[in-house]
Amino acid sequence: MSSRPEKSALFADDFKPEPYWWDTADPVTDDPGPLPEKVDVAVVGGGYTGLNTAIQVGRAGRGTLVLDAEEAGWGCSSRNGGQVSTSLKPGYDELCRRYGAERGRVVFAEGGNSLEWFREFATRENLDCDFRPCGRFHAAHNSAQYSRLARDAEISARDHGTGATVIGPSDVRTELGTDAYHGGVIFPRHVSVNPARYHRELLRLAREAGADVRGRAPVTAIQREGGEYVLQSARGNVRAKKVVIATNGYTGPLTPWLRRRVIPIGSYIIATEPLPAGLMDRLIPRDRIVSDSRKVVYYYRASPDRQRIVFGGRVSHNETNPRHSAPRLHRELARIFPELSSTRVSHSWMGFVAYTFDTLMHVGNRDGLHYAMGYCGSGVGMASYLGMRMGQQVLGLDEGRTGFDDLPFPTRPLYTGRPWFLAPSVMFYRFRDSLNI
Ligand SMILES: Cc1cc2nc3c(=O)[nH]c(=O)nc-3n(C[C@H](O)[C@H](O)[C@H](O)COP(=O)(O)OP(=O)(O)OC[C@H]3O[C@@H](n4cnc5c(N)ncnc54)[C@H](O)[C@@H]3O)c2cc1C
Repeated sequence: MSSRPEKSALFADDFKPEPYWWDTADPVTDDPGPLPEKVDVAVVGGGYTGLNTAIQVGRAGRGTLVLDAEEAGWGCSSRNGGQVSTSLKPGYDELCRRYGAERGRVVFAEGGNSLEWFREFATRENLDCDFRPCGRFHAAHNSAQYSRLARDAEISARDHGTGATVIGPSDVRTELGTDAYHGGVIFPRHVSVNPARYHRELLRLAREAGADVRGRAPVTAIQREGGEYVLQSARGNVRAKKVVIATNGYTGPLTPWLRRRVIPIGSYIIATEPLPAGLMDRLIPRDRIVSDSRKVVYYYRASPDRQRIVFGGRVSHNETNPRHSAPRLHRELARIFPELSSTRVSHSWMGFVAYTFDTLMHVGNRDGLHYAMGYCGSGVGMASYLGMRMGQQVLGLDEGRTGFDDLPFPTRPLYTGRPWFLAPSVMFYRFRDSLNI
């Protein structure tokens, strides 16, 4: 009979407190030699945002340098769940209420644009990253949420062509081997990738485009001199005509104005050891990516080889370390799939996503510095898309315009980048999630 493992029995013998994805592509920038003295475009941050910008400006023939404080890709871009969605948190009605019907429609459309662009980009560039057009099952964690999801799905399929279809409570087992949900919705356009291999492919494309990508080069200051910028980094100083900030959840004192506008929140995730033969076909038979309707969401999927489950969520009020988050995530995993009660955890890790006060991503230019960030935990598609658009903006191209341009990027009085309010907020939302509302 299966029972919950003791803490000591939870970790596989080869347990690693680092991303499972690094077993397939660890972030190594491999970039010896001194930095160039002068470039056209300097990009700070070597994740999806920064590299997609670099691909655009590099392909347009601009001398491009990407600097990352760690290895390029060390941030969220090799740590995430590899689930690609429309990325927008606010719904259509909410955006129209905030910005008026016309602008709301344009902002909302960017969610679909980012997803469709990502699908087209991965296919056109023939990226070797386990790209799968698998669709998402978004599961209702209670009956009130099922009613809401079903209503929204019908509207979004009718008015926005999402193709969303409703799965009633009695049909959940066609999607997942669990009785934990009250129905859900399928979004057929959502896709999955191996996030670290996707990043490695971006690195390849950026370099093929002529961009110079360097790790272990934290930028510590940016000064304006004449019409140019001087970036100070641990590996030397660089003069650049244009500067791009692509630091998302790792935005720090280098850019205080941006730091006051993003809220770094730890997202925690585990991978299981390989499951016994046949079990994955019972638990996730259609290979879809999965998320649930909680505010403090759980999301999971099969690994690309369908051997393991990769399961993520926010399991503590305050930030913690991956050894402490693993048993809590495992408890939730075993609640959904009791058959996994004795399955051990092989990897546990975390990364900092960037929330914003209006739960929207932002792209723009402040004091001459281009930026795109604030993906609120859903940035595989959107960071890629906005990085690409930001590259076009740097080039002065009309097609670089986005629905997010010129939207106010709010902060709060006295907020300097340390989210003291995080623990009470998580507590509040977790309490709400426990109610049938
Ligand atoms: C556990 C987890 C699961 C997630 N799951 C999903 C998912 O399934 N689907 C989804 O859509 N999104 C997901 N996300 C979010 C997604 O990964 C991010 O939105 C996306 O990777 C952001 O990319 P980025 O390039 O903007 O930032 P990052 O990849 O975080 O890169 C920022 C980089 O900036 C560098 N940096 C910071 N300061 C400096 C400096 N001063 N000098 C030089 N470099 C600097 C950092 O070292 C870092 O490498 C998840 C995130 C996490 C942590």
